[in-house]
Amino acid sequence: MAERETATGELGLVQAFVNTLDMVPRNEELKDPNTLKAWLVARDLMDPSQAVEEADLRHAHAVREAMRAVIGGNSGSRIYPVELATLNEAASASRLRMRFGPGGKARLEPEASGAVGAIGRLVASFYSAMQDGNWERLKLCSSDECRWAFYDRSKNHSSRWCTMASCGNREKARRFRKQHKHA
Ligand SMILES: [Zn+2]
Repeated sequence: MAERETATGELGLVQAFVNTLDMVPRNEELKDPNTLKAWLVARDLMDPSQAVEEADLRHAHAVREAMRAVIGGNSGSRIYPVELATLNEAASASRLRMRFGPGGKARLEPEASGAVGAIGRLVASFYSAMQDGNWERLKLCSSDECRWAFYDRSKNHSSRWCTMASCGNREKARRFRKQHKHA
């Protein structure tokens, strides 16, 4: 497969989280509490001594899809209140609060620990990503079946597909067939 563009820093973390579900071909990276825990621990978002339950997995999936929907706003998709409610609940459940870190830089940190706190850290990263001047470059692939989060490096922010080679060409071929059917 052709290289898909990835962001760095907080944008990159958010992008990596959203893309733990790859829809074409379907590949769920967070398929059980253990894989979720491994993912969060590997990124220093939680302490490995704490347990991750089925409920945490459902929570992570819901937050991930809400983030995907909000990123879709950068590609012109509508954002629904239910998605914002999911993110607001995740922020409340993890008890995010503003803290001054080393060097005096302010950031959001969860008071909650475990998986709920870790997901709160992802919500805090989502917030930081939005403050980044490149936030609007984080977009969703315009292919309805793909919806992969990609980083648009094009000069005028005009990319629509995660890769032209796969999704771009598939969508173009589909449109071409459609036009010819109706002609
Ligand atoms: Zn795509």
